[in-house]
Amino acid sequence: MTQIPHSYKVEAVVLRRSRVGEADLRLTLFTPTVGKVHAVARSAAKPGSKTGGHLDLLTRCSLLLAQPRYGGMDVVAQAHTIHSFLPLRQSLEGIGQGLYMAELVDRFLPERLEQPQVYYLMLHALHRLAQGDSESAVRHFEVQILVALGYSPELYHCLGCQADMERLPGFFSPARGGLVCPRCGSQEAVTRALSAPGVQALRRLAGADLGAVPKLSPEVCDELRGLLRSYITYLLERDVASAQFLDSIRRVPAEPSSGKLRTWP
Ligand SMILES: [Zn+2]
Repeated sequence: MTQIPHSYKVEAVVLRRSRVGEADLRLTLFTPTVGKVHAVARSAAKPGSKTGGHLDLLTRCSLLLAQPRYGGMDVVAQAHTIHSFLPLRQSLEGIGQGLYMAELVDRFLPERLEQPQVYYLMLHALHRLAQGDSESAVRHFEVQILVALGYSPELYHCLGCQADMERLPGFFSPARGGLVCPRCGSQEAVTRALSAPGVQALRRLAGADLGAVPKLSPEVCDELRGLLRSYITYLLERDVASAQFLDSIRRVPAEPSSGKLRTWP
């Protein structure tokens, strides 16, 4: 008797893709219903493959996945693009920011843990990136993924002595995961001074729903980029590769890109 694999329909964002062998693609997919899933798309790396065209990095797609009966990665049986976020692919920075968010999801989330809140957060941020609102969108995504995964930074009281931080100058401690007062901060190995506008912006980002993402000034964006990176690096126990890529493209003039997203930076 023929063994028929179990199949299921799902939508997903493509977080990673790499070629396996001559013609197959290995994919890391992020879905709202089954979380992060690894899958293989047979023959999708062949030139002109219909399936492969729907599986570019950061594409939101509708998939039919087949689960092999005796284990192994799911197999892509069908793929259709829902949204390709085309304008995002027109600039190297847009691509880099999108891949940075994909890397955060990939690093923070275990396999097959349902996280619909993070999924829709990512879709929202990709739409914002495609509209050219990159820095504020990415800062919001960083803070909100931390909140969703239980790493919400403490922004109202000193994590050393519980002092009310409404009126005190703040320092951020990545190891403690939030604000410390000047006295407690002086006893920490690594802290970052945080300006009053920086604290206010973090509070707004941590509380903002998707419809009310605050627009941040370039100065606050720069300050929070460094601070959130140090906190995320501490949590992941290593730096994020695509953040290093973004550092490198900030140091060179912008160039038009080919619009194709096939490999990691
Ligand atoms: Zn304190």
